[in-house]
Amino acid sequence: MRRILPTIALVIVTASSVWGQVQGQPPILYKVSFPEPEHHWMQVEMTFSNLGARPLDVRMSRSSPGRYAVAEFAKNVFWVEAYNGKGQKLSYSRPDADVWRVAGHDGSVRVLYKIFGDYPNGTYFGIDTTHAHLQMPAAFMWGVGRENQAMQITFAMPAASKWKIATQLFTTNDPNTFTAPNLQYFMDSPVELSDFLTSTFTVQNGDRTMSTFRLAVHAEASQTDVDELAKMVERLVREQMTVFGEFPKYEPGNYTFLLDYVPWGAGDGMEHRNSTSISGVRVSLKTPQGRQQALGSISHEFFHNWNIERIRSVGLEPFDFTRENVTCCLWVGEGFTQYYGPLLLTRAGLLVRDGAVVAAATDVMNSPGRAVRSPVQMSEYAPFGDGAISIDATDVNRTFLTYYTYGAGIALALDFSLRDMSGGKLSLDDYMKLLWTQHGKPDGPAPGLVSKPYTLKDLRDHLASLTGNRRFADDFFDKYVEGRDVPDYQRLLALAGYSLEMAPAGKGWLANIAVSETANGLAVGVGGPNAGPPRPSPVPFDTPLYEAGIDSGDTIRTIDGQPATSAAWSAIGSRKPGDKVVLGVMRRGGELITRTITLKQDPTARQVVPMQSLSAAQKAFRDSWLATKVK
Ligand SMILES: [Zn+2]
Repeated sequence: MRRILPTIALVIVTASSVWGQVQGQPPILYKVSFPEPEHHWMQVEMTFSNLGARPLDVRMSRSSPGRYAVAEFAKNVFWVEAYNGKGQKLSYSRPDADVWRVAGHDGSVRVLYKIFGDYPNGTYFGIDTTHAHLQMPAAFMWGVGRENQAMQITFAMPAASKWKIATQLFTTNDPNTFTAPNLQYFMDSPVELSDFLTSTFTVQNGDRTMSTFRLAVHAEASQTDVDELAKMVERLVREQMTVFGEFPKYEPGNYTFLLDYVPWGAGDGMEHRNSTSISGVRVSLKTPQGRQQALGSISHEFFHNWNIERIRSVGLEPFDFTRENVTCCLWVGEGFTQYYGPLLLTRAGLLVRDGAVVAAATDVMNSPGRAVRSPVQMSEYAPFGDGAISIDATDVNRTFLTYYTYGAGIALALDFSLRDMSGGKLSLDDYMKLLWTQHGKPDGPAPGLVSKPYTLKDLRDHLASLTGNRRFADDFFDKYVEGRDVPDYQRLLALAGYSLEMAPAGKGWLANIAVSETANGLAVGVGGPNAGPPRPSPVPFDTPLYEAGIDSGDTIRTIDGQPATSAAWSAIGSRKPGDKVVLGVMRRGGELITRTITLKQDPTARQVVPMQSLSAAQKAFRDSWLATKVK
């Protein structure tokens, strides 16, 4: 369980130097040191040679694959110097906030910089005396126009530290030196430097070769805890392989789970081609429950090594580190992954609650946002929805539904529809296999690159060819992917013996919006699960409250002539649809208005409930959906 295969190093060094030669350029050299890790910064030295006479631009990235908002990583750079090949100091200019331009060099340039990082998650980086948890786009400058040049990086450990290095970068004969064949691969390769524990296992691939998996765990845990976790991960990895029929060819010779469960980290998980970087602040590996808890993000991120890393949509390939990257299809990349995460844990016997697999149905039904944007449009909104920071008010509570949830709901609907229309012969697994053979499996031009990213039309056409039913594919995409219809979850879930519990008939309703009791009455859109600055949430469209012209900024002063309290507001829910309620409302600026509103039936889908007794058909459906596929 704890064996690291040393032979891999030799193979890789050879391969890596070949790529360097192909480019006809010596590699760009990086030296990284941590002189004062307690102060949360590191120093980076980059050496470029064979530059010719033109100025060299080095820059920080503005985006990072897997997180779709723009991040201004250059803001954390606080000290930059440049030297020529003779060691003479060079000046530089700043044509862009992210760019340092070095002119008048002699063909060689050494750039030194310092950068602060204390946010160890899947996008940013963090340094302290226990570790350096590095996400490359957040931490490393790169040479503009040199994206295809090989890169070599050497880490100098802090004095007296017991740090080791775990990464998907290619190893060399020096344990502290690694290479990447190009910028895309370098940026895709997080590095964990710490006194981590490891556990290794191998699984036979579809072609009977062995695939190697490593866990590198930085956490308060024993070797036994880590080995126990590795056993569970191995079961999961075997189960996941059955969906696609094979593991990808992991370019460095193995796949690494970088698991960083320190309480001062930031909870996150990020996918990469040959590794994943997962951090969790409340995960304890010391108990079986804690290890089980860790599996949720592990299952999701591992599925990504097929879906998004290799089966990849246009718009993400090649990734542009200088700007936000927009794509049609995060509802597949993230949403289908979100669906398969708990589904494959269930198939592997590692999750007892199958409710987690179907939960997206009610989330999709209840979201006001899905009536505003289709799954494709939600994907295109990702640069504003995923890790984006805005200081102004937004209306995301009524116009946005994350493509994680929306996509998981679409995956559920497609999986059940395929099983239904084919009499159990087809499932979403077959669709994923087809995407794999068409788009994921074909080798890219170099490690880190995808040769056949898919379009939205590809997805539609593959569904038609898989089912032999163009009408089914067009109907599904027109309604649920490019349209805003809600799948018939009631009917679909019943196929597997679940019923959909709706709000009881006869329950009156104004809108799903939080109100907050103040001295003047109820402030509309304040509080609730998404409470926070800077502004109240607007009232969702197509609700009685919206249609009455009441929205955020208004204060409800009276309900049927009585003072508006939280209790009086809640009591509206026990009235009948068709009943009238009279609200006295104060606008911003003090205007007083009165509105008489007719209540509608509460449309809330409350939960998915397993039926008490299942028919033979329902049992068979559930078995073929949930039973392990590992032989
Ligand atoms: Zn994901």
